[in-house]
Formats: sequence, C-alpha cells, structure tokens
Amino acid sequence: MFALGEKVLLIDSKKRRYLFTLELDGEFHTHSGFMRHTEIVGTHEGSTVRSSKGADYIVLRPTLEDFVIQMPRGAQVIYPKDLAPICMIADIYPGVKVFESGLGSGALSMTMLRYGAVIDGYEIREDFANRAQTNVREFLGAESLNNFRVSIKDVYAGITESGFDRMVLDLPEPWRVVPHAEKSLRTGGILVAYSPSITQAVKTRETMADGWLDHRTLEVLHRTWHIEGSSVRPDHRMVAHTGFLTSARFVGA
Ligand code: SAH
Repeated sequence: MFALGEKVLLIDSKKRRYLFTLELDGEFHTHSGFMRHTEIVGTHEGSTVRSSKGADYIVLRPTLEDFVIQMPRGAQVIYPKDLAPICMIADIYPGVKVFESGLGSGALSMTMLRYGAVIDGYEIREDFANRAQTNVREFLGAESLNNFRVSIKDVYAGITESGFDRMVLDLPEPWRVVPHAEKSLRTGGILVAYSPSITQAVKTRETMADGWLDHRTLEVLHRTWHIEGSSVRPDHRMVAHTGFLTSARFVGA
C-alpha cells in the first residue's frame, strides 16, 4: 500500500503520466480537478483514484525510466533507450569501479548505481553536481550516495584517482580524456563515450590508438509500435537521433 513519502505515478485516460511524492498536506492539481495526496495513501498499485471533477487516474510506483524522464534537470539527460545499452556495453556489474564525467542531471549515474556500480564522478559545474546528487538521493535513497563520490573538477585537466574498471563519458570533447584514461583505467578496462555528433565519435576513436582494442561505434534506434485491433504498425513518430556510443578496451600502452 502507498505510504506518505513514497513516489507515485498517476496515469490519466489519455496516458499522460504525473510523478510526485506523497505528502501529508500535498494536493495533486490538473485542469481536471484535484485530489489530496492522503486519498492515494493506503491504495495499492493498479488502483484507480478520482479527482474532484471526476477524472480517473491509475496509481503505480514509478520505474527508473519514469523518473529519468520526469526528474528535474540541469543539463540534457541521456535517455533510457541509450542508458541501458551503455550499461551493457560498459559491462556494469555490482561493485565495478567506474569513473564518470560529466554528471549533468545524474540520469546515467543513477542507472549505473542501480546496476551496482561504485562511481567517482567529475563535474565542472557545481549546480549540476548538486542536481545529480539530489536526483540520485531522491530516487535511489541517501545510502546510494555512499557509492557516488562527486568532485567539482575539469576532467580535461586530469584524473587524480586510478584503478578504474570502467570509464563512461558524456562530454563535448571526450577525446581530451583519453590520455588521462590511459593512466586511470586498469588493463582490460572499458571506455564508453556518448556523443551526439559523429565527428565527436570519430575523433574519440582516432585518439584511442596504441593500447586500445575492440573499438565499436553504434547508435540505438528505438521505434515504438501502434497496436490497436487490426491496426498494427510502427508509430508515425520516433526520436530519430540522440547520440552515438563509442567504446574500446584499454590493454596498456
Ligand atoms: N550524462 C548526464 C548528462 C551530462 S551533460 C545525464 O545523463 O544526466 C554533460 C555534462 O558535462 C554537463 O553537466 C557539463 O557541465 C559537464 N562538463 C562539460 N565539460 C566538462 C569538463 N571539462 N569536466 C567535467 N564536466 C564537464
């Protein structure tokens, strides 16, 4: 049953999604009326609740995907379609030591933390670093911050720590981090860089020269389908492009 302090996802008849935290004095308002949060407290997932103007909403617990899409953002986030493949390509597992930069709004951080990563992260902007930590705490709980060590630093200037299993980059110029990665990644470690532009991917690939193996660049195409009665076809609209994922393994210079 839902309790105060929990996050809840409401879905209306038009499939619009509303995510918020249940508070004692909280009210949920839309153009279709309002309801007190306490009316949701005590219901089960899958229940229907009704607003003051008679609009029905289905009540569910939000998934990480729901949260990433709805959470407050500073910088642009990496979308779920790329978050999970990044974790697969970077081979994120419980206890893996990951270096991440930049942190932005923390979408990638919270996904890797959920897969069990222990992250050292560099973010140049303090407001984004705070936003990332707040988002992580909001969704994964305060104890997850024990696995998320954040420094306000310019990663292009160098990386102090070393012995990382993985390095995951979402930066305008990831190739500038490759020389630092060669000092901070362990032998056999994997670097993954997410970049919107193919020229960024090419430059990163070219910089991962001696000592790097198994290079790959790919993009993830995610096309949803409309399934209703006999009308079964791809949706008319899709997000055609987000970013390229470039990876390689470091085996020592
Ligand atoms: N992957 C993040 C979004 C990162 S956006 C997410 O999923 O939420 C890119 C981030 O890189 C921004 O926050 C920006 O401030 C940071 N950044 C840019 N240059 C940097 C640098 N030289 N060192 C550290 N962080 C940097």
